[in-house]
Amino acid sequence: MGRVLITGGAGFLGSHLTDLMLSHGHEVIGMDNLLTGDPANIAHLAGRDDYQFIKHNVTNYIYVDGPLDYILHFASPASPIDYLQLPIQTLKVGSLGTHKALGLAKEKGAVFLLASTSEVYGDPLVHPQPESYWGNVNPVGPRGVYDEAKRFAEAITMAYCRFHGVETRIVRIFNTYGPRMRLDDGRALPAFMCQALRGEPLTVFGDGTQTRSFCYVSDLCAGIYQLMTSDVKEPVNIGNPAEITIGQFAEKVIELVGGGSEITYQLLPEDDPKVRQPDITRAQELLGWAPTVDLSDGLQRTLDDFRGRLSLGASES
Ligand code: NAD
Ligand code: UDP
Repeated sequence: MGRVLITGGAGFLGSHLTDLMLSHGHEVIGMDNLLTGDPANIAHLAGRDDYQFIKHNVTNYIYVDGPLDYILHFASPASPIDYLQLPIQTLKVGSLGTHKALGLAKEKGAVFLLASTSEVYGDPLVHPQPESYWGNVNPVGPRGVYDEAKRFAEAITMAYCRFHGVETRIVRIFNTYGPRMRLDDGRALPAFMCQALRGEPLTVFGDGTQTRSFCYVSDLCAGIYQLMTSDVKEPVNIGNPAEITIGQFAEKVIELVGGGSEITYQLLPEDDPKVRQPDITRAQELLGWAPTVDLSDGLQRTLDDFRGRLSLGASES
């Protein structure tokens, strides 16, 4: 089935993609410097013949022995808290890291898939966002380090496609959630779920009217697999179009967890997008993909995982 390199392989998405690739019979090499990832995400793979882990910072030259059929480039801090604390690393992995991973794809004749993001649309003036929208990004704002790194990554990916003939794919991932998200990564879902489980108030930023559209991780991975094995070179949005305000999202988490936490309102971070919803027409038409897991089901599965890890943490401390 082919040999796959996954950069960022010890992260939330990288580890789920690893499981999916292995289940399809691929051999997987996970590469990660553990900047925001967690070895616990890949602990269950220890001892497998079809998996190996290489600890490496992909902003430096990447060496992999033997053939590679696919490179999935997922290395990058991804939560706003992470990339605000790691601005230079975020810019470097999106630019230098993508350059190194593309060079490796050219050398090995591998299909290269870039994990891009809905953040390339910035604070969007078109709603929902189709791939044809060029975005509204503040290059010098705090989020610019992530957004512009990903926009550069898309540009260099297309240059390697056009100039070097590398087989490239670009997935624009919209907010994805599920088991293995870092409990303290600061994104809305881990923040709200941990707060609700601890009986603390949920911290809604701004007035909570900003919207997001949350996709369950298995749906996202299925879409990425479809894209990886297709011949679609243009960017493809993968996400769940079910849009919800952050205030409603917080209420939904409280209802699911129980315990009656309150909501407190805090300052909205600078340049926080007011709306976000994927137009998935292209994914539906070119890949035959659409999400299947609704928010209540996905949240329940995520809650089971969070409960387990929180109680483990409590019993260890
Ligand atoms: P994550 O932080 O869990 O995973 C990222 C992984 O990359 C981590 O394991 C980290 O240690 C590793 N990494 C970072 N810099 C590295 C470097 N220089 N060398 C090697 N490894 C490095 O985040 P995630 O949510 O799994 O995101 C994975 C990818 O998907 C990112 O590229 C992110 O931009 C993209 N993405 C995610 C979402 C989402 O909702 N989760 C949305 C849009 C895009
Ligand atoms: N958010 C919030 N409280 C939190 C964390 C996030 O209200 O504790 C808001 C954040 O301001 C944004 C939305 O939830 O409007 C989604 O934030 P997240 O960090 O999950 O991802 P983003 O979509 O902004 O990249």
